[in-house]
Amino acid sequence: MAVAEIARAEAPKLFDLDRCVHCGLCLNACPTYRELGLEADSPRGRVYQMVQVAEQRTTLTPSYVEHIGLCLACRACETACPSGVQYGRLVEAARAQIETHVKRGILVRLLRRLVFDLLLPSPVALRIAGALLYLYEMSGLRRLVRFAGLLKPFGNLDRIERLTPRVEVPFFFSRLGEVFPPEGERRYRVAFVAGCIANVCFARLNEATVRVLQKNGCEVTVPDDQGCCGALHVHSGLRDKARQLARKNIDVFLKGDYDAIITNAAGCGSTLKEYHELLAGDAEYAGPAQRFVKLVRDVSEFLASIELNPNLGPVPVTATYQDSCHLAHGQRIRIPPRKLLAAIPELKFRELPLADLCCGSAGVYNIVHNDLAMSLLEKKMQRVAETGADVILTANPGCLLQLRAGAAMFGRGERVAHVVEILDESYRAWRA
Ligand code: SF4
Ligand code: SF4
Repeated sequence: MAVAEIARAEAPKLFDLDRCVHCGLCLNACPTYRELGLEADSPRGRVYQMVQVAEQRTTLTPSYVEHIGLCLACRACETACPSGVQYGRLVEAARAQIETHVKRGILVRLLRRLVFDLLLPSPVALRIAGALLYLYEMSGLRRLVRFAGLLKPFGNLDRIERLTPRVEVPFFFSRLGEVFPPEGERRYRVAFVAGCIANVCFARLNEATVRVLQKNGCEVTVPDDQGCCGALHVHSGLRDKARQLARKNIDVFLKGDYDAIITNAAGCGSTLKEYHELLAGDAEYAGPAQRFVKLVRDVSEFLASIELNPNLGPVPVTATYQDSCHLAHGQRIRIPPRKLLAAIPELKFRELPLADLCCGSAGVYNIVHNDLAMSLLEKKMQRVAETGADVILTANPGCLLQLRAGAAMFGRGERVAHVVEILDESYRAWRA
């Protein structure tokens, strides 16, 4: 199928929509419904609006675009739905349809082009952006902006600035192309997905992930020419661009003979595991995509499925865990991260109430819909306080950024870390 034909076919299918029996069991699971209390901002309401469009009873009105745009694509409704409505697939298709048919303002178009076409897919552009951000931090400008409140007169810009990630030098880009040997006997050969922004802003997390895999008998290859997985593109309705990125990654990762392709980012993992759906209409790549998705594992999923190296030292903290939506709802992975945390000596675990309710991060949602994202975050931090935890653990870089902002703005300065980072700490604390 030609690209243009695929684009035309991009719309929620009545076949999928018809699975909804309007029972409303998804309503309380939906963060936007809980916040706004509007049927139109509930899963059932959004499905209803998609049906109206699919049956050509209405068009892509500004109101429709707004209600679909306000969805976090967290997929909590999928978990709650007894009827098997594949809501994630529906909202992605609805956004792709909007992207094809609704013209945005010039500024928004320019910004989207800059981020989705020029920045995310290009290691060179990411390096330059990372260097500029580093300069912003090191020059003291960031501190000045924050403490002098220079952005306060510009509405939400002040809060959005607090969500900008910190760059971590040296960038993980310098490790691309390396093969890290296992500690001890080789048990597995794995490939590591380094991400796009993560190379610049989560370089230490990526290094910790590689170390933990090495500790567990993995030879870890970080393929050189891998790139952005396309998750943010898919969530924003840019499925053609996501397909280009997917094809490249499939070529790169299927070149090696790996037991698993590992990611430490739940949002990326969810998209990587759905490459076969993204490329279902592509005669050349449909088969390779099927082979690729069978190998993709979240790092916690992989580690919990093997015999874990037990040489874990004490990490005496009280910790809680925020389920990343795309791990809990997108990939149905809840127990593995908790199982890993339970293996760490002296770590006191406190379950977080409503741990699988979105923290408001959701890709670029916390920037585009900052008010709603902040309201979700504030409530999340209130629940964190109830646990008494001083460390918040999670499984996705986007959640890490959001929760770090939450700890600073609404919390008690709790430490926020990835599950694999605390596991790495535990391995480092081990004394024979
Ligand atoms: S994906 Fe999340 S925000 Fe969107 S309708 Fe479902 S539960 Fe609500
Ligand atoms: S739970 Fe499923 S079937 Fe029931 S209203 Fe929600 S989407 Fe429809």
